[in-house]
Amino acid sequence: MKKAPVTSDPIYFTKDHEMVRRAVREFVDREINPYMDQWEAEGAAPLHDLFKKMGELGFLGIRYDPEWGGEGLDYWYELVFLEELGRVHGSGLPTAIGVQTHMATPAIAEFGSDYLKQTFLKPALKGEMVAAIAVTEPGAGSDVAAITTTAEKDGDGYLINGSKTYITNGTQADFLTLLARTSDDPGYHAFSLFVVPTDTAGFSVSRKLQKLGLRSSDTAELFFDGVRVPARNRIGRENEGFIYQMQQFQHERYAALPMSYVAAENIMALTVEHIRQREVFGKPLIARQVLRHRLADWATEAECLRQLTYHIVRMKSEGVDVTREVSMGKLYAAQLLQKVADGCLQMYGGLGFMNEMLISRYYRDARLFSIGGGADEIMREIICKVEGY
Ligand SMILES: Cc1cc2nc3c(=O)[nH]c(=O)nc-3n(C[C@H](O)[C@H](O)[C@H](O)COP(=O)(O)OP(=O)(O)OC[C@H]3O[C@@H](n4cnc5c(N)ncnc54)[C@H](O)[C@@H]3O)c2cc1C
Repeated sequence: MKKAPVTSDPIYFTKDHEMVRRAVREFVDREINPYMDQWEAEGAAPLHDLFKKMGELGFLGIRYDPEWGGEGLDYWYELVFLEELGRVHGSGLPTAIGVQTHMATPAIAEFGSDYLKQTFLKPALKGEMVAAIAVTEPGAGSDVAAITTTAEKDGDGYLINGSKTYITNGTQADFLTLLARTSDDPGYHAFSLFVVPTDTAGFSVSRKLQKLGLRSSDTAELFFDGVRVPARNRIGRENEGFIYQMQQFQHERYAALPMSYVAAENIMALTVEHIRQREVFGKPLIARQVLRHRLADWATEAECLRQLTYHIVRMKSEGVDVTREVSMGKLYAAQLLQKVADGCLQMYGGLGFMNEMLISRYYRDARLFSIGGGADEIMREIICKVEGY
């Protein structure tokens, strides 16, 4: 695949941002992409090794407070990091990394005690601990408030009983950021977020799940049989966990935007290379205007998503609520990525259907974006609510 230019936009990014971009890019080219085929075949990447290397380079805590092992950098640096993750050959590993940086740790940083930050956040940002986010259950996905895993008061701690499913990093995690019911009250003020170390008695991985895509990331079903955590492992206030988790979801959804437009552009670059050399009816496929026009449409849409993302970064930098824009962006990103992966696979013909071709991995992986982290329908529900429809 042709290398993309390093500097993407002098209006938004300084030389220092570009230095970070170069460092992440080199890491992806050296430590990730050469191993993606192997990790896809093995059904997981060795996260302890990889995160240790990333932590040493400061990649896991770009925006986090230096007091807790972060780099204390601005949102543009974080964006640079996420854009470069979009260059990974498939979405499995970027998802595993995103869990560590944007899904399982934001609530600890924002609402957790100094004890939790010292004991779990800091090692996670240094890459010494692998994190997972445990919200979804066999009976509750989109409807988060339907979860039935409970955390009952037990002296100075809580006893956790229940199960979680589809948990990314679930077979390798050292701790889980877990949502459980802590009250029978109806409504949203009945759940709490906990940090649960996975070496606690009563915790087990029921099974590692086999998936259509994202095969370089492990996904697991987890079981909790009287798992006791001390009260100090609760994040923030009791019964406010649902509210914290809804805020944590915003980080997860935002992270999908840059990864999607960069991945879409990569898929197109890969495809253009192929259709330049593939001759059909005596001409290279690229000579067909219908195909080039299709690519032009997708490039335009990817650029629209990029500009929405840059707008969101400016809003975040000003402390403005981005729920509306992030929900719109996540919905658009999921649809764009699938459209591009599907359309590009079509341009490959039968070759695109072969497992050995990277395009087939992109096609399989893209499907998850409309389901995970809040499905398309849930994004539409949020947009309707904000717009008053
Ligand atoms: C590979 C993978 C990794 C994941 N990683 C994690 C993880 O690390 N941690 C974690 O907690 N979870 C994780 N998930 C779970 C993911 O967040 C859920 O799958 C997602 O929230 C959807 O929930 P569900 O699968 O239960 O679908 P359901 O909630 O059963 O929904 C089924 C379908 O119905 C639609 N639907 C739901 N409500 C409505 C409505 N009101 N109107 C119209 N349509 C509706 C949904 O959009 C969806 O299309 C992962 C999932 C996958 C597949």
